[in-house]
Amino acid sequence: MRAIHTRSQERILNLLQNLKQGISAQDIYVELRNLKQSMGLATVYRSLDALKLEGLVQVRTLANGEALYSLTQQDKHHLTCLQCGISIPIHQCPVHELENQLQTSHQFKVFYHTLEFFGLCTKCQESGVRSQESE
Ligand SMILES: [Zn+2]
Ligand SMILES: [Zn+2]
Repeated sequence: MRAIHTRSQERILNLLQNLKQGISAQDIYVELRNLKQSMGLATVYRSLDALKLEGLVQVRTLANGEALYSLTQQDKHHLTCLQCGISIPIHQCPVHELENQLQTSHQFKVFYHTLEFFGLCTKCQESGVRSQESE
């Protein structure tokens, strides 16, 4: 069952398909303009909202509050460093099985889930130790 999409929604889906990472609404707006497929920022947001409710697009909110959109097929999780902000993708999903169980036990249609790990990356752990030593 595939819903009929507006031209704006199709353009956004095509753009997201070609990206390996999440992208902000603002950047989607800029990318589309570069592709000569300009649409207003309000249309970008409205289209993303519609696609989100269809379960095709997911949102990931970063520590700085920025929302990144990506296709939901990418069941990917990240280790995010609180100091330098680096996001390291991890290619494992420990809750995949749980998701299936919840769909059955709660009769709930799960579109996606989020799981994030926060802390310090190797580099920042080292620099933290060094700056403490020099004080
Ligand atoms: Zn770091
Ligand atoms: Zn997952």
